[in-house]
Amino acid sequence: MAEFGGSAILARLIEQLRKLPGIGPRSAERIAFHLLKLDRDEALALADAIRAVKEDLRACRECFNLAENELCHICSDHRRDRSQIVVVEQPKDVLSLEATGLVSGVYHVLMGHIAPLEGVGPEDLTIAALIERARRGGVREVVLATNPTAEGDATALHIANLLAGTGVTVTRLARGLAPGSHLEYANRAMLEEAFRGRQHL
Ligand SMILES: [Zn+2]
Repeated sequence: MAEFGGSAILARLIEQLRKLPGIGPRSAERIAFHLLKLDRDEALALADAIRAVKEDLRACRECFNLAENELCHICSDHRRDRSQIVVVEQPKDVLSLEATGLVSGVYHVLMGHIAPLEGVGPEDLTIAALIERARRGGVREVVLATNPTAEGDATALHIANLLAGTGVTVTRLARGLAPGSHLEYANRAMLEEAFRGRQHL
């Protein structure tokens, strides 16, 4: 571990910052020195925000989105249409789809995708809970909004097969999204088009 001005404490902060996505050694150093200059309250507010994310956020009991309480803000909103469940891979995708303003339904977060080569099978995701929700009744449509990647497609197909015969309409986002792309990087217009043009599976 490199030491900065002989301070192992500062070096430790830089090491931690370097683990963040998109932060190289130079940026880590710059942020560390910036934090050093902040007053105590400001710097500790950041530490507190990190602690709160790990200690006070949990998975929604119903949809596995990030939640501060038992239910996330979407599941606890009585205006949402519970007959439509939009299935996504991760909580970030909920944010992307919410930004389009087109989803009146609720979500289900899978917490990943089926990836046999990485040792991720259906049982490692929240698929069983989704099927249970769909079977509980009152669900009209399940929109499979997994990423248009090989894994996302395989996951969508697996879920569609499990839902066959339940009477629930299963749709998939339209192909406006480039194959191999990810929802989180799609712009709002592309996502709107994909959601509007969703097709029966
Ligand atoms: Zn929820």
